[in-house]
Amino acid sequence: MTDSTELFIHHLLSQMTLEEKIGQLNQPRSGDKLDPDDIRKGKAGSMIRAAGALTGQGGSGADGAEQANHLQRYALESRIKIPLIFGRDVIHGYRTIFPIPIAQAAAFNLELTQNAALVAAKEASACGLKWTFAPMLDIARDPRWGRVAEGNGEDPYLGAQMAASLVRGFQGDNMALPDKLVACAKHYVGYGSAEGGRDYENGEVSEPTLRDIYLPPYESAVRAGVGTIMSAFLDLNGTPATANRRLLSDVLRGEWGFDGFVISDWDSIAELINHGVAENRAEAASIALHAGIDMDMVSGTYLETLAANVQAGKDSIQEIDEAVLRILRIKHRAGLFDNPYTDPNRFTSEVLTSESRQLARQFARECMVLLKNKDNILPLRDFRKILVAGDFVNARSELYGTWSPDGHAEDCAPLEQAIKSTAPKDVDLWFAEKYDEALDYALEADLIVLVLGEHPRRSGENSNVSDLGLPPGQAEFIESITTLGKPVVLVIFAGRPLVITHQLDQVNAVLYAWHPGIEGGEALGEILFGLQSPSARLPITFPRATGQVPIYYNHKNSGRPVTAEGRFKSRYVDLPATPLFPFGFGLTYTSFNYANLEQSNKTLHDSISFTAEVTNTGARTGNELVQLYVRDLVGSLTRPVRELKGFQRLDLQPGETRQATFTLTEEMLAFTRADGSKGVEPGGYQVWIAPDSVSGLFGEFQL
Ligand code: BGC
Repeated sequence: MTDSTELFIHHLLSQMTLEEKIGQLNQPRSGDKLDPDDIRKGKAGSMIRAAGALTGQGGSGADGAEQANHLQRYALESRIKIPLIFGRDVIHGYRTIFPIPIAQAAAFNLELTQNAALVAAKEASACGLKWTFAPMLDIARDPRWGRVAEGNGEDPYLGAQMAASLVRGFQGDNMALPDKLVACAKHYVGYGSAEGGRDYENGEVSEPTLRDIYLPPYESAVRAGVGTIMSAFLDLNGTPATANRRLLSDVLRGEWGFDGFVISDWDSIAELINHGVAENRAEAASIALHAGIDMDMVSGTYLETLAANVQAGKDSIQEIDEAVLRILRIKHRAGLFDNPYTDPNRFTSEVLTSESRQLARQFARECMVLLKNKDNILPLRDFRKILVAGDFVNARSELYGTWSPDGHAEDCAPLEQAIKSTAPKDVDLWFAEKYDEALDYALEADLIVLVLGEHPRRSGENSNVSDLGLPPGQAEFIESITTLGKPVVLVIFAGRPLVITHQLDQVNAVLYAWHPGIEGGEALGEILFGLQSPSARLPITFPRATGQVPIYYNHKNSGRPVTAEGRFKSRYVDLPATPLFPFGFGLTYTSFNYANLEQSNKTLHDSISFTAEVTNTGARTGNELVQLYVRDLVGSLTRPVRELKGFQRLDLQPGETRQATFTLTEEMLAFTRADGSKGVEPGGYQVWIAPDSVSGLFGEFQL
């Protein structure tokens, strides 16, 4: 925070009328019955370019900048001349669509994540935007919840690392540069705990779990300098997130020192009435303002009621001033006072470039998780007649996934064409989308690649499912294809972990492709034909059955652990309690061996280091994600059976051995203790250097 910013915004505030101040707190939708005169009167501080609101494409073409400039001109004609900040959901790319967030997390590649966010910011800002409602940082332990697609999975360490990379990617070092966006960490907080996996539902999360699992990605975003935060829709422990003064003000601003602004989620201030904490819109506005919500996304309650609330002595002018200052601070930091307009010429050179496509290709390759590869059937060799069959054969924008409102279908090659472009010349490729047609072709084929899974609309906001199995009809199709006795590779496109327990036994290989984005088809072909090797890992546990949910790797041990012998232990009578695939799991086209765990010390004083040798024992070059896990054996509160504390990637030639080294510090082991404070406790710890969250080399140390 520079003094000149503070001087500037305080001076500006001193010139503003109450109405102008309240106007800054209001975010209407652009294109929404908005009278230009209202902008001239200073009744909007921001505008949300909600999907389709302006042009049907939200201004994602060359006209985006001009539309924004047009509205900005009205704002600068107002008495106080404060520029608008245009916001939109730029979630995993703008025109160049990258893999969905859960797939990005699967790449465990922070640099790539940051670079993709950088491209998204460049493209979106070239189209008149200055603010993205991303990253979504909600920890999700329940894949029934559709928004699992939008986040980084179940782990707070990975979530925190991804948070920092995404914020740095969107904002850069200086969010005032014309090609940067202000980021918005959402949905603060606990949103992923919605009961039953139903979006918008209530959640109950204990304070230690909130602190140690749900909050860390947000704290990390704040440390990385995120400009804004969005409150969640949910009611957490009896207080709607949009009304939670303790979390929005005491924790976020008090403990973490956040000095940006907080926006509500869509209409969530007015929804305080439905939640049953406010009687009417005036009271809802008052509660939200007092809790620490600075900007009202589309409910209109602030604009409508705050002036009267102030006059009636129900709201204080100081609280309004503080909210205005926070908004002005970010607008100033974002350079809007100096550069309110977007250069429309940027579109041609900065949107959908060959470099951005290359990056999207790389990300698509690195997000696909190989879950099974019996007898190394992949990469495909020696098969001359290959049938590619199933719902995704002609997919284009279906590869984009949820929240890609600015992606254009014609930018993406249909899957069929993309796979053809990567196949060896001597392979005969046949394609069939319809199941009966596929069965006919299958009789003649040497091998069948099934491309199945979820349509993008089946995940994302409020696209929850009660059954994690494949969508209707697909299991039967797989059954009939596999009874032919031919080798089958199953490729799944999805926005969540699906239950594929039965199919896993039926097919020879499974590649989990998520929704891989604009270059997803080509990336898939490259992996199938061995031009690239898969390297991704699961950022979330895959259950054997929906009934196992919630299931996550960093659970507590219980008094009768899953691993114990005998009848009376944590278990099901009809199913193993273990997952189908654990967090961190993923195969590639070679194999690795871990050996010789060594540690710098037996006791952690300031820090302790662990080293292991990793050898490529297969015949192909490979990239291994080496993971570090810790278990704190005894605590004043119970501790998880494992916690991820680090990861690194090693490139290894066949036969090559390299060392992976990790350093643990006391701070990395801190947790919320029985007295509510955060810190460590002396005692014994276990450690693993591992290829996933359930195996690995084992060590111990004391603290
Ligand atoms: C979603 C947010 C999103 C907002 C604006 C809401 O429905 O929950 O994630 O940013 O809409 O589009």
